[in-house]
Amino acid sequence: MKHKLTRTLALLLALGLTLSLAACGGGTEGGPKQPDAPAADATPAPDAGSDADPTPEPTPEPPADPYDAVRHYWSEDQLTQAWGPDQVVEHLFFHPVIAYPQWAFHECPSSQSQKEGLDDWMVTVDEYNKILQSVYDRGYILVAMEDVWSEYTNEAGETRMRRNTLMLPEGKKPLIISFDDVNYYPYMLEEGFTSKLVVGEDGQIWAECTDPYTQETFLTQELDATPILDQFVLEHPDFSLNGAKAIFSLTGYEGILGYRTQNDIDIAADDPARPAFDANRQAEIEAVKPVIQRLKETGWTFGSHTWGHINLSTRSMEQIQRDTLRWEEEVGSLVGPTSILFYPHGARPDGDHDQNEGYGDQFRWLQSQGFRIFASVGISSFSQVKTGISAVICDRLHPDGTTLRGGPGGKAVGWYSQFYDCRDIIDLDVRPNLGVTWQ
Ligand SMILES: [Zn+2]
Repeated sequence: MKHKLTRTLALLLALGLTLSLAACGGGTEGGPKQPDAPAADATPAPDAGSDADPTPEPTPEPPADPYDAVRHYWSEDQLTQAWGPDQVVEHLFFHPVIAYPQWAFHECPSSQSQKEGLDDWMVTVDEYNKILQSVYDRGYILVAMEDVWSEYTNEAGETRMRRNTLMLPEGKKPLIISFDDVNYYPYMLEEGFTSKLVVGEDGQIWAECTDPYTQETFLTQELDATPILDQFVLEHPDFSLNGAKAIFSLTGYEGILGYRTQNDIDIAADDPARPAFDANRQAEIEAVKPVIQRLKETGWTFGSHTWGHINLSTRSMEQIQRDTLRWEEEVGSLVGPTSILFYPHGARPDGDHDQNEGYGDQFRWLQSQGFRIFASVGISSFSQVKTGISAVICDRLHPDGTTLRGGPGGKAVGWYSQFYDCRDIIDLDVRPNLGVTWQ
């Protein structure tokens, strides 16, 4: 029961949002009355019907924030292990996790190639839980990506990046986790994923989910990567340094976090469809704000995955500029500015300059917009601080079907073996029968 609220609560929450929006919007002169909103005079007074009971209820203390225990778990004098600039800071990233694997891999109406794409790039909830447990058991501790590097000014007066020395508890190894595409794209909602993040009645982050078999909509903390990590950290507060959780890598073209906050520039200002579109968009923007706020309060941060999930290695400078400004307008305006860019498809702009300083205009332009950390995707841990410009490039490792199955060449029991043995993680009972290349 603790982890599964009923549809009634979901409806109450939805109603609560409607009401607060009506309150914020104000002045809807002559506008249609919200059919769901009870009239103000129908709301019972708080103590209605309590005439027989003269003793007032004491006002309960607001409950302590359970996350405080995470934030303050390690005291400064316990952080005695210096993790220097030459020591690896590992980085794992996940796509949204599959809540209903049997549906996603076998029963949903998507094409076979789409289902195999889910197999390639996603993990199931069970696999994700096992990965978290394994990295925790092996001594990793979550750190904020923003704390790993910082900018400084050198003797020549130029700004450059440097790897920081992290102060950790003895025996722990630092780990960054990022989550790509936490946008709840409509196509995923058909394929057995959760549908949005919300703040529950208890003030905590929950995921809204619709069971694909019964169409029942409910709130859960067990079927979505974000509240699962929240719960894991509450249960294992030593897994987080200073309350760090993970960083979201967000696009903007379908809104963010399950809210359709994106603009549609094809609807002209004088289009008759514009007022309704704007009103709905504004409602979604207001609805996502408390979710962003609670995430920020509890150790989550935000980076850019470009607005349109564009391939930066093939787009023109003009397209990259337009896309970047749109992300700032539609996503950065809600989650705040970021210095971190996660390349869609792992594709670097200006070719593969990972071993030298040979980047070009596009990389320079992105850097000039405030990006300092540029994250691609790789199969081994990699990061490089640039010497000629204030920037860091790095790779992220990707636990998913491709790596859990072993990949071409079958070297993969060795892949990621610092985190887990993939034979213990992969759920071959539910995944499609695509074989493995490990023995
Ligand atoms: Zn992506």
